[in-house]
Amino acid sequence: MAVFPHSPLSLWLDTYGDYQPQPPLRGDRKVDVAVIGGGFTGVATAHELKRADPGLNVAVLEARTVGYGASGRNGSFAMTVVGLGFGVMAMLRGKEWLQAAHRYMMKAVDGLQELVETEHLDCDLIRPGFLRAATTPAYVKRIRHDVDLMQELGFDDIYWIDGEEVQSRVQSPRYLGAMWEPRLLLINPAKLVRAERDLALKLGAQVYENTPVETVHRKAQFVITTPEGSLQAEKLVFATNAYSHLFPELKRKQIPAFTYMIATEPLAASQLKTLGWAGREGIEDARNLIHYYRLTPDNRIVIGGGPVGLTWANDLAGDSDPQSWDHLENHLGWLFPALKDIRITHRWGGPFSVTLNLSPALGFVGDERAVYSLGCIGHGVSMSHRNAKTIRDLILERKTELTDNPFLNPKVIPWPPEPLRMMAAKAIRGYLKLEDWWNERGIQG
Ligand SMILES: Cc1cc2nc3c(=O)[nH]c(=O)nc-3n(C[C@H](O)[C@H](O)[C@H](O)COP(=O)(O)OP(=O)(O)OC[C@H]3O[C@@H](n4cnc5c(N)ncnc54)[C@H](O)[C@@H]3O)c2cc1C
Repeated sequence: MAVFPHSPLSLWLDTYGDYQPQPPLRGDRKVDVAVIGGGFTGVATAHELKRADPGLNVAVLEARTVGYGASGRNGSFAMTVVGLGFGVMAMLRGKEWLQAAHRYMMKAVDGLQELVETEHLDCDLIRPGFLRAATTPAYVKRIRHDVDLMQELGFDDIYWIDGEEVQSRVQSPRYLGAMWEPRLLLINPAKLVRAERDLALKLGAQVYENTPVETVHRKAQFVITTPEGSLQAEKLVFATNAYSHLFPELKRKQIPAFTYMIATEPLAASQLKTLGWAGREGIEDARNLIHYYRLTPDNRIVIGGGPVGLTWANDLAGDSDPQSWDHLENHLGWLFPALKDIRITHRWGGPFSVTLNLSPALGFVGDERAVYSLGCIGHGVSMSHRNAKTIRDLILERKTELTDNPFLNPKVIPWPPEPLRMMAAKAIRGYLKLEDWWNERGIQG
C-alpha cells in the first residue's frame, strides 16, 4: 500500500552513528496491542503501555527504521505551542480551548523532561527557554497581543521582553523584542526516539522495523498484514501522523505538508562570539509560516520553516525543495549578517500532519478498539509524548484527566478529494503567506 520515498537524512539521523534496526516481522503472531508507526507517538505509546501493564503484549510496526518520519527530522523544540500559536488558535478555537490546550502542553513539556531524566535517555536535553522574536513592527504588535492574551488566561510565565534585552541574549540587528517563555526543551530527536525504542524493548515490547503495514482488516480481532507476516491484535493504535491518509479509515482526517531545514557547519569561536547566545535559547519568529532555529551542542545553527510544501493527492515525495533551502540560507544571513557565507552541511525536509481546522486530533476510530493521533502540525515533539499517555489510558479503558482533554474525539472536518483538497490547502497556505507578506512589507527577510 504505502510508497516510502527515500529522503535525504536529517542532521540528527546522519550524525546518529551506528544503528541496529530490529528485524522485520516474519510469520504470524498474536498480540494484545499493535501500534503502527515508530515515531515518538508509537514508541512512547509502547513504553507507556508496558509500564502501566507489564503483562500486556505490545508490538510496534515501523515501515522503515524508528525515527524515519518527522520524529527523526524535526527542529528539536519541545514546547508548549500548539497548532499555529496562541493568537491564531484562540481565534480558531476560542480562549477556553486555548487555555485547556496550553495546560496540556505545559504538562507535555514537563512530562517529557521527567521521562528523559528518570529513564536516563541519552538525547542531549537542555531547558534553555523559548524566545519568539519580533523582526518587524507588525510582529511586535502580534507578539504583545499574544502575551497579553496568555496573561489574561492566567499564564504568568510568558512575558514580553524589549529589544535591548533580546539583543543582550542573542545579537541580531533584526530583533525588536520578544516573547519569553522559560518552558522549552531542546533535544536531539533521533537520539530521543531511538532511546525510547530501547526503553520499550527493555520493558518487553516488540518492535519490528522495515515492516510496512500493507492492510488492516477489522474482524473479531484486527488482522494486520506486512510483506513477510501478519499480526492479530485485540487493539490497534495508528501512530502514523502525516502518513495516516494511507489508511482508508483515516484517509480524510489529515493531509501531509512539508517543512524544510538546513544545518550549518559548526561555528568558529569568533563567529559564536558575534552572536552571544550563551543561553542557547530556542528561537522562532512570529510569522504564520514560522522560522525556527537553535544552536546544537557542537555549535551549528539548525534552522527550518518558511515555505511549506504541498503535493498532489497527498503524495509523500515532498521531502526535498532546493528553493526552500535557499530561502533558509538567505534568511539566516539576514538574521545574522556575520554568518552570510557560512557553509551549509545538511539540507532536509519532512512531512507534518495538518487537519482542516489546524488543530491536533486523537481518539477512537471505527469503534473503541482502535485509536489514532495526528495533526500536530509542526509542534508534536512534546505533544506526542503526552498523547502517548492519553492513548495508553484509552487503550486500557481508564478514565483519567487525560481522557478529558481538548484534542480528544473531535469532529474532524474531512479534507475533500482532489482537486478540491489541493485548492483548499493552497488557499489556506496562500492566506497565511499573504498575511506574512503584509506584516513584512518593506522589510527584507
Ligand atoms: C522538518 C520538521 C521539523 C519539525 N520541527 C518540530 C519542532 O521543532 N518541534 C515540534 O514540536 N514539532 C516539530 N515537528 C513536528 C514533529 O516532529 C511531529 O509532530 C512528531 O515527530 C510526530 O511524531 P509521530 O510519532 O506522531 O509521527 P512520525 O514521527 O511521523 O512517525 C510516524 C511513523 O509511522 C510510520 N509509518 C507510516 N505508515 C506506516 C505503515 N503503513 N506501516 C508502518 N509504519 C508506518 C512512518 O514511517 C513514521 O516513522 C517537525 C516536523 C518536521 C517534518
